Amino acid sequence: NLTDRLEAVFKKLRGHGVLTEEHIAEAMREVRMALLEADVNYQVARDFVDSVSAKALGREVSQKLSPGQQVIKIVRDELVELLGGSTEQIRFDGRQPVTIMMAGLQGSGKTTTAGKLAAQFKDSGRRPYLVPADIYRPAAIEQLQILGDRVGVPVHPSTADTKPVDICRRAVAAARENNYDTLIIDTAGRLHIDEQLMGELKEIQTAVDLSEILFVADAMTGQDAVTVADTFNKNLEITGVVLTKMEGDARGGAALSIKRVTGKPIMYVGTGEGLDALETFHPDRTASRILGMGDVLTLIEKAEAVVDKQEADRIARKLKRSEFTLEDFLDQIQQIKKMGSLEQIMSMVPGINKLRQIKDAPQPNEKELVKTEAIIRSMTRKERTNHRIIDASRRQRIAAGSGTSVAEVNRVLKSYTEMLKMLKKMRGKPGAMSGMKRRK
Ligand code: GDP
Ligand code: MG
Repeated sequence: NLTDRLEAVFKKLRGHGVLTEEHIAEAMREVRMALLEADVNYQVARDFVDSVSAKALGREVSQKLSPGQQVIKIVRDELVELLGGSTEQIRFDGRQPVTIMMAGLQGSGKTTTAGKLAAQFKDSGRRPYLVPADIYRPAAIEQLQILGDRVGVPVHPSTADTKPVDICRRAVAAARENNYDTLIIDTAGRLHIDEQLMGELKEIQTAVDLSEILFVADAMTGQDAVTVADTFNKNLEITGVVLTKMEGDARGGAALSIKRVTGKPIMYVGTGEGLDALETFHPDRTASRILGMGDVLTLIEKAEAVVDKQEADRIARKLKRSEFTLEDFLDQIQQIKKMGSLEQIMSMVPGINKLRQIKDAPQPNEKELVKTEAIIRSMTRKERTNHRIIDASRRQRIAAGSGTSVAEVNRVLKSYTEMLKMLKKMRGKPGAMSGMKRRK
């Protein structure tokens, strides 16, 4: 599937210390193939790859990420963009009521999604009202009635002999009367797009003040879903998309193409038949999931923001020569502090994780770090570069200078020497500390 394919491409990329134009071209050929195989629209795949290539080639070489990581990051960023950038939600403007019309082909999941949305809106404290406007399919009205009963949301008493547009008009009036603030109109679908279906939806659009027209598409239908979305959008100006049956969508092509082709955001994804199986769509999370490397990317982002690769290299070199002084210890503490939540960082970085297991090593506790920093700062340069000279009287002076106690100074010195010991053991195993800058 798409995730596996892309991961294979990135594995190759990450193996390269230096990336040439050819490396990028080759990787992009594979990315394009992977997209096409995932049923992504041909033009969308081409534009995507062109855009990534241009950015990868034009980018200044950053000190903070390896070239492979940079390309991966560009691909990820583009993927997020392709999926819509940021999360878009239903606009609950001041309209009384806010009215949402479901549109799409038969079997796409309109009625089910209407029920799911009603449940979510109700949970968030709104007063939804379900409106059955599919008068053609036998039992369509009853289907929505049953869903409404299950989620405890009132359903407009539609009848199959009333025109859909009239049902909607009456439902809006009934909503105002009963203080329902959110109308969800379930409409009919056809097996194929036809004039009558569009005509009926347009009629509703003209007669009722719609806040949203949600196009519901079955993600399993891939390219077809994209084409149909395009047609609905051209006819109705849809405002958002719901992709259903995403739990079974191994290929992911529809999600990747639909925003690009229609310009309209994916707002929700349906992930099952149950009434709670509806999720808000998050482009960034979906992109990470597609790439199958969420935690690594998060780490890259954090590292990119704060860890200077040169600095990490410098420390790594010092470690090799066992020249890791208290000064370097201080640097490391500051790097760690800059990276944000310690727990989070430590769980991601294998090298640091090991340091944590040492007895008396600085624990992931911000207060302790601040103290440790103060203690090291109260040392003279000489003391920092050679801890052996720090005798009892110096310890007393340092404790007084940092507002701590001799015991605390001893503790810091102890964790430093423990760290030194462990680092010596790690010598010759460079992977252990370089985890911070390049995780393989
Ligand atoms: P409509 O014709 O557009 O109203 O489609 P329905 O709401 O009647 O749904 C058609 C079928 O798809 C039903 O069997 C639903 O249970 C099923 N369905 C809808 N959404 C999802 C989903 O997100 N996942 C799965 N697995 N099935 C869904
Ligand atoms: Mg239906």
